[in-house]
This record gives sequence, structure tokens and C-alpha cells, in this order.
Amino acid sequence: MALSDEQIERYSRHILLKEVGAKGQKKLLEAKVLIIGAGGLGCPVGLYLAAAGVGTIGVADADTVDLSNLQRQIAHTTADIGKPKVQSLKESMEAINPDVTVHAYQKFIDSSNIRELIRDYDFIVDGTDNFAAKFLINDACVMEKKPFSHAGILRFQGQLMTYIPGQGPCYRCVFKDMPPKDAIPTCRQAGVIGAMAGVIGSLQAMETVKFITGTGKLLVGELLTYDGISQSFRKVKLPPCNGKCAICGEHPTITELRDYEQPACELRL
Ligand SMILES: [Zn+2]
Repeated sequence: MALSDEQIERYSRHILLKEVGAKGQKKLLEAKVLIIGAGGLGCPVGLYLAAAGVGTIGVADADTVDLSNLQRQIAHTTADIGKPKVQSLKESMEAINPDVTVHAYQKFIDSSNIRELIRDYDFIVDGTDNFAAKFLINDACVMEKKPFSHAGILRFQGQLMTYIPGQGPCYRCVFKDMPPKDAIPTCRQAGVIGAMAGVIGSLQAMETVKFITGTGKLLVGELLTYDGISQSFRKVKLPPCNGKCAICGEHPTITELRDYEQPACELRL
């Protein structure tokens, strides 16, 4: 595939980078990424990946845009209130870049449909707001051997890590299982600073672009945390999978996906 004159101009700031170049840009145009969640994290991820020219992007979310979303979900506008989030995000992404094909899935992702959905994509971005979805995405990605970016935000704090099959611990290696009900407050209860979604979502977009272009070091085996109050980033080295993980270990006890009861404790967004 040769880049057109318009593409050479559009992506010139990527092409100038020796780590990306025309070769990396072509990889981006040929890549397929699925974003689960079109909210606080999914919006900046979707906008940056569309701008970067990721050729095929799936966006999955069952919700519609609500007035209280607009403080942080920057792809949606006041005029979008009541519209499906996937439609609103798709329109924003397509307005940025006509090179990008966006597939919108307006449905709840559960144990019955997630494996089939992620199978078509090279990289998965978890932009969801609750632990049930996070464990479901992790387990499905481990089963389908799909790399994915995990992230979570609450109040002035955010975190992210990347899972690459066979290269490091999965989300369940680190967090084991669902937290007890009500153990962790929701964004609705505890709040979240809007720009936190931008900071952490942009870092997820960075991981995605680096994965596709084979550039630099990914957050595999490391959890990056960000504290907006003290403006500090911290990297926590994660222990490698000891072979005992219930999903990615040597003798997994989870052999089929299950839907957890939605806990009251959303991680936020
Ligand atoms: Zn694991």
C-alpha cells in the first residue's frame, strides 16, 4: 500500500519520526483496534487513534450520552445528549479523519458475545467503568490471546497497564478477583476530575500506537499510576505470573467466561 499525497501531508509529523516513519504509518492504517467503552477513557482514545490513522476502529458501548457525561467525555457535545455514545464518538472520529473506518457496536458486552467481538481485532482498549467488565475483558483477552490496555480512574487518580499474551502478568494476576460489594466508591459517589480521563486515555492511545508500530517499551509487567494532586507518576513493577493465576496460569480454573453481578463499586469514568 502506498501513501497518497494527502496522507503524506496528514501524517507528516508521524512520518518524520524515525520510530514511526512511512512504514509505521502504513502499519497504523492497516491495524484494527477495539475500544470497549465510549466514555471518559474511550473518547480520548478514539479521537487520538482516529487522528493517528488507525484504519479500523471498533467502538462498543450500550449507553446514551447524558448531561453529566460532558464534564469529561470530550467526543460528545451538548447536542449529542440522548444519542448513543458509539454513534456520537463515531461521528467525532470520522469528522477528524476520513481514512478511518469506525464500527459502532451499541450493545452490552457480556460473556456471550465478547470472544467473537474481540477476535477480529489486533489490540483491545479497556475503557470501561466497572470491575465486572474489567475482569470479563481480561479473561476473554487471555482466552483469545489478545493484547489489551487496562486503565481506571477515580477522583484525582488513574492507573494503567498493558497485557501482552505470554509476556507478562494479566489483570487477574494482579487484582485476583472482584472486590467486595461497596468496597470501592463509584465516580458518581466519589467524583473524578475531568482531565484525568484525558491523561489516562491519552496514555492508552500511546500504548496502542506503540504496540502497532513496534516502538519503545510497553507497560507490560508494570502498573503506571498517576496522582493529579501531587502531579506525580509512579511505576510499580508487577510480579510475573507465578503460574497459579486462575485464567493465565498453568492450570486455569476459569475455563469459561462468566458474567459477574454488576457490583455497586464502579471503578469510575
Ligand atoms: Zn493472569
